Amino acid sequence: MSLIAPRRKTRVLNVGDVKIGGDHPIVVQSMATADTRDPAATLAQIRQLAEAGCEIVRIAVPDRSAAAALPDIVPHTPVPLIADIHFEHTLALKALDAGIHGLRLNPGNIRKPEDVREVVTKAKVRQVPIRIGVNFGSVAPMPPEFVDEMAMRNATQVELRAEWLVRSALNHIKILEDLDFGLTKVSLKAFELPVLFEAYRRFAGLPNDYPLHLGVTEAGTPRAGSVRSATGIGTLLALGIGDTIRVSLTTDPVEEVFVGYEILKSLELRQKGAIMIACPTCGRVEVDLFTLANQVDAFLAEIDEPIRVAVMGCVVNGPGESRDADVGLAAGKGKGVIFRKGKTVRTVAESEMLEALKAEIQQVIEDRRNGIVDEVDATQGYRPDRPVLQLTAV
Ligand code: SF4
Repeated sequence: MSLIAPRRKTRVLNVGDVKIGGDHPIVVQSMATADTRDPAATLAQIRQLAEAGCEIVRIAVPDRSAAAALPDIVPHTPVPLIADIHFEHTLALKALDAGIHGLRLNPGNIRKPEDVREVVTKAKVRQVPIRIGVNFGSVAPMPPEFVDEMAMRNATQVELRAEWLVRSALNHIKILEDLDFGLTKVSLKAFELPVLFEAYRRFAGLPNDYPLHLGVTEAGTPRAGSVRSATGIGTLLALGIGDTIRVSLTTDPVEEVFVGYEILKSLELRQKGAIMIACPTCGRVEVDLFTLANQVDAFLAEIDEPIRVAVMGCVVNGPGESRDADVGLAAGKGKGVIFRKGKTVRTVAESEMLEALKAEIQQVIEDRRNGIVDEVDATQGYRPDRPVLQLTAV
C-alpha cells in the first residue's frame, strides 16, 4: 500500500487555460519580483518563469500605477496571471477590466461590503477565481474569547495558531459564499511547519471542496528555504492535500519553479525534465565524480523530457542504480561503464564519460521521439506503479 494518500477531492477551477483541482496535475506557480509598474521588465520575467515551466505567475498590484500597467501586461503574457491585491477594491476592478486570470484577495480586508460585492460580481461574470490567502504573519490578532475557547479545549500553541488560520480563512470564504461565489481557492500559510500542517489538515477535514494552494510563507534563502518548502509542501502533498504549489525563496523566482518541480518529481506526482540520481561519493570513488555530476546536471537542466539518469561512483551501488535508469554510469578506476535501458553499452575512459553520457541521453530522447520503444524502454526507468512481473521464490 502506498504511503502517499489519495488526493483530496476538490472542485476544478480555471485560471485562464490552466485547470486547478480535481484530478488535474498539481500546478506550479511563482510570483514575479519585477515592478509591475514596468510592463517590459514584468513581461520579461514572466516569460523567463514560463520558460522554466511556471504555469501561473502572480504579480503584485500594490497601487494605481501598477493597476494602470496591467493592460500592457495581461494581453501579452504566455501564462495566466494572478493579481495580488490587498485592501483597495478599485485595484481589483481594474485588474478584472484588464483581463486578469485570477485574483489573490481577502475580501474581509476590504472595508465596505458594497465594494466587495462589486469586485465579486465582476469576478463572477468573468469567471475569474479568487484565492483567499491567510498567512499567520499578517492574520488579524486573536480575540481573547477565541484564546479562552481554545484554552478550554486544552489546545496547544500549534493548535491555537492553526485553528486561528482556519477560522480566518472561513471568515473570508463566508463573505464570498454569501455573495454566491464559488470559484474560490484557499491557502493557509505559516513559517512554522507544525502550524502549517495542522492548519491544512484541519481545513482539509472540513466539508468543502475548495482547491488548496500550498506554500511555506517566507521560507528563506535558497538552501534553507528549499528544504523547509520541500518538507512543508511535500508532507502535505503526501497526505493528499494540495492542488497547486508555490515555493517562496529569497532569490530569483525561477529557482522557485525548479524547486517546485523537484518536490513534485520526488513524490512522483509529476514528470518534468530529468531526474538525476548521483551518489554522494565515498572513499571508494576513483574518478572526479563531483565535477562530472555537476556537468551532467547542467546538461540535463536544458532538457524538458522526462528521463532518469544515474551517475554513480563505483561498482557497489553503481550498476544497480544505472540499470534502473534510462541512462547510467558506474565508474571504476579511471573509467566507467555506460548503461542504457538496463543494458551495458560500453566502457569509456574518465575523460570520455561526459560526452558518452550526453550521447546516450540524446539517443534515448531521439528513440522516444521516433517511437522506438523496446521492452526496457517501456518502463522509462523505475516505475513504482508498474506491477511486478516476476517474483523469485525463496
Ligand atoms: S556508489 Fe560507490 S562511490 Fe558512490 S557512495 Fe556508493 S559506494 Fe561510494
